Amino acid sequence: MSDLTRLSAAELASLVAKREVSAVEVATAHLDRIDAVDERVHAFLHVDREGALAAAAAVDRGEITGPLAGVPIAVKDVVTTKGVPTTAASKILEGWKPPYDATIVERLKAAGMPILGKTNMDEFAMGSSTEYSAYGPTNNPWDLGRIPGGSGGGSAAALAAYEAPLAIGTDTGGSIRQPGAVTGTVGAKPTYGGTSRYGLIAFSSSLDTPGPCGRTVEDTALLHAVIAGHDPRDSTSIPQPVPDVVAAARLGATGDLTGVKLGLVKEFAGDGSEPGVVAAFRESLEALVKLGAEVVEVSCPNFQYALPAYYLIAPSECSSNLARFDGVRYGLRSGDDGSRSLEEVMSLTRDEGFGPEVKRRIILGTYALSSGYYDAYYGQAQKVRTLITRDFQAAFEQVDVLVSPTTPFVAFPFGSRTGDPYQMYLADLFTIPTNLYGGPAISVPCGLSEGLPVGFQIMAPTMADDRMYRVAAALESAVGTFTPPAL
Ligand code: GLN
Repeated sequence: MSDLTRLSAAELASLVAKREVSAVEVATAHLDRIDAVDERVHAFLHVDREGALAAAAAVDRGEITGPLAGVPIAVKDVVTTKGVPTTAASKILEGWKPPYDATIVERLKAAGMPILGKTNMDEFAMGSSTEYSAYGPTNNPWDLGRIPGGSGGGSAAALAAYEAPLAIGTDTGGSIRQPGAVTGTVGAKPTYGGTSRYGLIAFSSSLDTPGPCGRTVEDTALLHAVIAGHDPRDSTSIPQPVPDVVAAARLGATGDLTGVKLGLVKEFAGDGSEPGVVAAFRESLEALVKLGAEVVEVSCPNFQYALPAYYLIAPSECSSNLARFDGVRYGLRSGDDGSRSLEEVMSLTRDEGFGPEVKRRIILGTYALSSGYYDAYYGQAQKVRTLITRDFQAAFEQVDVLVSPTTPFVAFPFGSRTGDPYQMYLADLFTIPTNLYGGPAISVPCGLSEGLPVGFQIMAPTMADDRMYRVAAALESAVGTFTPPAL
């Protein structure tokens, strides 16, 4: 048998279903690969060999079947896994073992997907490089001296390093798509409410969206179908059937986009991006036109205000959500030696438990929500959010999907953007509007710039996730997939 770690999830599932290879062999191959390369990549914060092998054995005993049965998966460490350490890459949750599974984890288990372990990320999903992980950064398999994106850099790097065929990410401002773009992998942010947030450690509840990451569009769609769908335990979950993303991906793979209208977002089409990114994006757009798509330039004038609005809304919600980490119920508790008051213990715990970026967000958000400033900051940002939503709605009256590069720049070297928060925030310039609107978007690898991957973003109307998969698969059929140098 050829190297199992090089196969797609769809291929692995088919081999397991036909019993040409066992689920235990598949899991073992990936666990061995993690043992061999993760010292250099550091995609994982925790590997659950025993749990993964037990889940694989259940598939081999015929207890679970299904489209991804026996395909192992890596899960971002911001998603709770019962009895398996979940830290959100923060010191404040070091060693915490959740008493329950997130809904999406329950669905992975029910689908017979062995969970290999938990992946590295920026602390509490705040960042674009994994440099804000309390446990050290993840290295990009394309160039170990560069960032793998963030916050879900571990999930994307695990795919690019062939440590896992599929992974779970979460996207609040771009944390699935931007890591996908800079590692040459696929990442999809579903419609907000299309995937359950139950069991997600909350960062910004009106934006947080769990979603699938893969190396191919079809694999990503297969995973999307497993995790999506209504969950009564999440009050913002949409009680509607999920569009058939797998059929849409297969339709797109036939390479025919006749009649599909792509809206080129004028404001994101050139200025502000590296020339190599613009070149790869433009070439891909031409490839889509050859497949029959029509390109219409559309203006979304309020998209330029998305970044500042996001950096008021997300920190505001984060300051409220992270109030629960106070050393009382779980995680770190500092200085509780009888000499300090409760308030002093809470304060010391938060001071020692949170890293500098998380503290920056809490301070920013607390300020934006404080009385006297609320209307000027949070209130204004919410109004901008409405304007951005209207831009999307107006655009979707003319076109089927919107397209742009996923990120303005390729993977950057470690340390090159940590000195200036704004430079780091710019990584999500093109991904954030979608989160404010709530629609789905996907990043697909579309080319290389100076040897590093470039991502192509496709944004669709809410609950039309299938549309973006169709275009994504068509693009993949035209440009192919991208393999990093051997590790
Ligand atoms: N990079 C963005 C931030 O730092 C987005 C993070 C995310 O999507 N979780 O907030």
